[in-house]
Amino acid sequence: MSMHKFMDRVIVSACLLGMRTRYDGESKPADLPAELDGVCLIPVCPEQLGGLPTPRPASFIMEGDGAGVLAGESRLENVEGVDVTEQFLRGSAEVARLAKIFEVRRAYLKSNSPSCGFGVTQGPEGKIPGNGVCAEMLRRMGVEITVVD
Ligand code: SF4
Repeated sequence: MSMHKFMDRVIVSACLLGMRTRYDGESKPADLPAELDGVCLIPVCPEQLGGLPTPRPASFIMEGDGAGVLAGESRLENVEGVDVTEQFLRGSAEVARLAKIFEVRRAYLKSNSPSCGFGVTQGPEGKIPGNGVCAEMLRRMGVEITVVD
């Protein structure tokens, strides 16, 4: 079934829309640009879709970035030292599935996150250059990504 007859659809990090999906159980509501007025927003949280609880221990990309994770060369750990790579990969794949179903061409993603960050993501010592796992997966699908602080 083609979705073309419906209005434009954009994926948005759920926490930016006020959903309390963040690791600390809070949201990060943002003023979205006027260009999104009248657009169908699809809220997603790749960490929740990957099966992680909320609240949850914060996670970081170890030795690399989202591209490294997709290549099997990097992994993610939470602050308790638990490997959460599988959950991040699963959640990102679910977001990719939604993007395909809804024929999404644009995404507005939360800055600096190990999942949603684009250009800057999270390493164990803080911000590092690179893309989060979900952002990298969407980028490879040709989705145009805008970072929202
Ligand atoms: S994974 Fe993305 S959507 Fe979920 S809380 Fe973190 S930044 Fe927000």
